[in-house]
Amino acid sequence: MPERIESESRKLLGRLRDAMAGDDPGQARLDKITHLIADSIGTEVCSIYLFRDEETLELCATEGLNPNAVHQTRMRLGEGLVGRVAQRRQIINTANAPQASGFRYMPETGEEVFSSFLGVPVQRLGDAMGVLVVQSKEAREFSADEIYALEVVAMVLAEMTELGAFVGEGSAMGARHSQPSMLRGTVAQEGVAEGHIWLHEPRVVVTNPIADDPHREFERLTEAVEELRVGVDKMLALAAVDKEQAQVLEAYRMFANSKGWMRRMEEDISNGLSAEAAVEKEQSLARARMGQANDSYLRERLADLDDLSNRLLRILTGQGSDTGADMPVDPILVARNIGPAELLDYGRSLKGIILEAGSVGSHAAIVARALAIPLIVHTERATLEALNGDHVMVDGEQGIVHLRPDDTVVTAFRDKMAMQAAAVERYASIRDKSAATLCGSFVSLTMNAGLMADLPSLEGSGAEGVGLFRTELQFLVRNQMPRRSELSALYSRVLDAAGGKPVVFRTLDIGSDKVLPYMKPNDEPNPALGWRAIRVGLDKPGVLRMQLQALIRAANGRPLTVMFPFVAQYEEYTQAKAEMDKAMARERRLGQVLPERISVGAMLETPSLAFAPTKFFEEVGFLSIGGNDLKQFFFAADRENERVRRRYDTLNVSFLSFIERIVERCGQTDTPLSFCGEDAGRPVEALCLAAIGLRSLSMRPASIGPVKSLLRRSNLEDVRKVIADARHRGDMNVRPAIMEYLRQQG
Ligand code: PEP
Ligand code: MG
Repeated sequence: MPERIESESRKLLGRLRDAMAGDDPGQARLDKITHLIADSIGTEVCSIYLFRDEETLELCATEGLNPNAVHQTRMRLGEGLVGRVAQRRQIINTANAPQASGFRYMPETGEEVFSSFLGVPVQRLGDAMGVLVVQSKEAREFSADEIYALEVVAMVLAEMTELGAFVGEGSAMGARHSQPSMLRGTVAQEGVAEGHIWLHEPRVVVTNPIADDPHREFERLTEAVEELRVGVDKMLALAAVDKEQAQVLEAYRMFANSKGWMRRMEEDISNGLSAEAAVEKEQSLARARMGQANDSYLRERLADLDDLSNRLLRILTGQGSDTGADMPVDPILVARNIGPAELLDYGRSLKGIILEAGSVGSHAAIVARALAIPLIVHTERATLEALNGDHVMVDGEQGIVHLRPDDTVVTAFRDKMAMQAAAVERYASIRDKSAATLCGSFVSLTMNAGLMADLPSLEGSGAEGVGLFRTELQFLVRNQMPRRSELSALYSRVLDAAGGKPVVFRTLDIGSDKVLPYMKPNDEPNPALGWRAIRVGLDKPGVLRMQLQALIRAANGRPLTVMFPFVAQYEEYTQAKAEMDKAMARERRLGQVLPERISVGAMLETPSLAFAPTKFFEEVGFLSIGGNDLKQFFFAADRENERVRRRYDTLNVSFLSFIERIVERCGQTDTPLSFCGEDAGRPVEALCLAAIGLRSLSMRPASIGPVKSLLRRSNLEDVRKVIADARHRGDMNVRPAIMEYLRQQG
């Protein structure tokens, strides 16, 4: 970097800081800044455009364009050169603007006489705030040094905008984080909640973007990087770090030692930025690249760099994760992402969770479901928009977050919450009643669980027991394989908490989307059809044996029910059952107390098992239909792929007929049968399942009330007839006929 530009850039930042020092109103500050930049860079025009709303930019200050155009000229994202800079978050540098692709002439500005154009995005950590533009009559491209100087200034402008330095009249200059904002995401756990924001990782605020003494700033940066490096090395030296963590730390070390990264930050400092502003500038660039990277490896490395930059900023600013703020009494957690263990640490204190990343099938989602906390994932901009303490309403029915809601939203939302509360109360009144239908049938309703945290729901929901205990959750929320004694203690506590109600333990169901962090991942082309569940258990029986032993010991004389997941053929059941028999024999030899009774069953999750020999149905202790998997294999539609999943309805005649066939086969051999997929918890689906003969349904605890309420008001004979008629008519799906019937019933 030539000395001249370097000192020019520093001088410019110095003048900028002086201009900001007074307590001028926002507009006066912006006017001064545009004047100053045009003067320093030597261009006729300098303009600042800020976002008025997510889609529209507004000219907020200008030196050189028609002053009457200020707050009048607006463009949409992507419109004209300025709109393009904002949309792509990339610089546009052209000697002949009117000829550049995308150019749009704004007559009120009088800009037609200016040939060269340089537009730089004003952005902070991936949050686009506006565009800084210089223009001149002389047809020339701007040099790399000029671009660089403008980028540094844009970064400072972004920081100042965030700090509220440019607040003035009109929405483009409104105070940030003060307007109501509606964010959309995907529902991962239903429910509605009102509360106040608690940021999992409070953002670091840089209050001193400009510094006079580059040497001092170099020193600060070097010291901070050193502190970071030592910290990472220490972590790596710790034996407790597992392989995957070690890989992440290695990536950190790579960046901490990266010459390019350090060099760029040093350049930024020599041009007048403070050490923290330099780190943030590089972090912003990395975030912008992250948004554009198609390659997942590159995206991951950029995410590592982002994390590293956050740590560095915390060291430099002295702002730890603990800002000293008190957690609100009704916290709604906002994070980019969160692990299951961290979420368990917060526990039930949270009223809701909003994640920018995350996914419906993630472990954190499983935990949120277990804790019955509404969770929205894929909520874009959540960590950028929300501030600690902001009032927020989470609509976990629609997947909408109302941040700083206005009065009309608050009223409507509270009505919705009141209606839900009334429904819950209605269900509470039938909690201790059975699900007896009008035609005199009884349907047993049990709940699905997987964590200790689920068990209090046994009491509250009125479930008759646990129809599916997903044991893999205990494996998923840990960093290492749990020991037999730990598992045994846990299963024992589960049985204690159930207080004599039956609990069906499903053995480890891993593979597919459930990957244990401490097991070598299998690079399979189709994991859902791959080495999973009982297939793993039979091929590598060590863990299965350990688990069966833990279960027998936990029962300690009490009845024990065990079910094997994903059994696709008779032989897999007999092999798994043989493992159970061996485990019992071993425990007997060791003199352990054996379960009073033992029942061993299988999950029917693949169509093949429905056609197994009759002997299988006679032999198996019981069957439970895993509707989530069964449906995905019946329709050949990935349960995690929203696009195809939604095409196929559970009430499709083909699928219902298939389930009915399973009910018949079980009837012929007196094999106890239940249904434990998500559909069991949907009242209309549950009603149809009961009508075609299922007498045992296992579901999320929150679904028991609504399902029971509908069953108690229904006559299964009538519903059966509605289904038969629909089938007879040739309907593809019985849902319309059922809905019509329910409407008639009121
Ligand atoms: C199912 O497949 O329906 C089931 C209950 O198991 P999981 O959802 O855990 O695969
Ligand atoms: Mg399954």
